[in-house]
Amino acid sequence: MTDSKSPLIEINAQISAICEQSGRDSGSVQLLAVSKTRTVDELARLADQGQRHFGENYLQEALDKIAALQGRDLVWHFIGPIQSNKTRDIAAHFDWVHSVDRLKVARRLSEQRPAELPPLNVCIQVNVDDEDSKSGIALEAVPALAAEITTLPNLRLRGLMAIPRADSGDNSRGAFRQLAMTLSQLRNTMPSLDTLSMGMSADYGVAIEEGATMVRVGTALFGPRTA
Ligand SMILES: *Cc1c(COP(=O)(O)O)cnc(C)c1O
Repeated sequence: MTDSKSPLIEINAQISAICEQSGRDSGSVQLLAVSKTRTVDELARLADQGQRHFGENYLQEALDKIAALQGRDLVWHFIGPIQSNKTRDIAAHFDWVHSVDRLKVARRLSEQRPAELPPLNVCIQVNVDDEDSKSGIALEAVPALAAEITTLPNLRLRGLMAIPRADSGDNSRGAFRQLAMTLSQLRNTMPSLDTLSMGMSADYGVAIEEGATMVRVGTALFGPRTA
């Protein structure tokens, strides 16, 4: 029997290969391990293999894991819907928030970011193709919210995030392309924006071809979620 490679090694190799095929530097794409519902041990095992960036959706679950894995130099990303009464803990315990979709939440995150921490990195979540989803703002509303966020002292606007509709399959390419075009337009006036958070287990390859700088991968790393 031969050892099969770990999913982490395989996915990192995939990311490098797709970068090379698309003429991109393989260092230009960050793998975010989406670890919702996974145990501390599963995260620790991945961290032992060198994974540093973890994405969590549920605040309480995330806070427990962050506490349990303290001292490992991990980078924590909040990627779930944000209730405004949860902003204080998010601002205090995370390094990134991908799911900012309204000014009220952005203001609270900035006000509640502890003074001893660097500014919180944020992305605006955009509702690219799924009118039914309550998460994310419309593409047309992005420039105004982005302009507001750049005035908030304790946030650092990094870019855009989207979750295309699950049933859109190959068509997530169109949504990814729209998101990339929107970021590129924003960069005319906000050249420091550098992040396109898009692509999950099923479509991270397509997302990289379309310019993703961060792919959020859960199932392909950890196996199917049972919870
Ligand atoms: C769960 C989740 C993912 C990962 O999905 P997989 O299909 O398991 O890779 C990525 N992004 C967000 C926002 C999620 O909630």
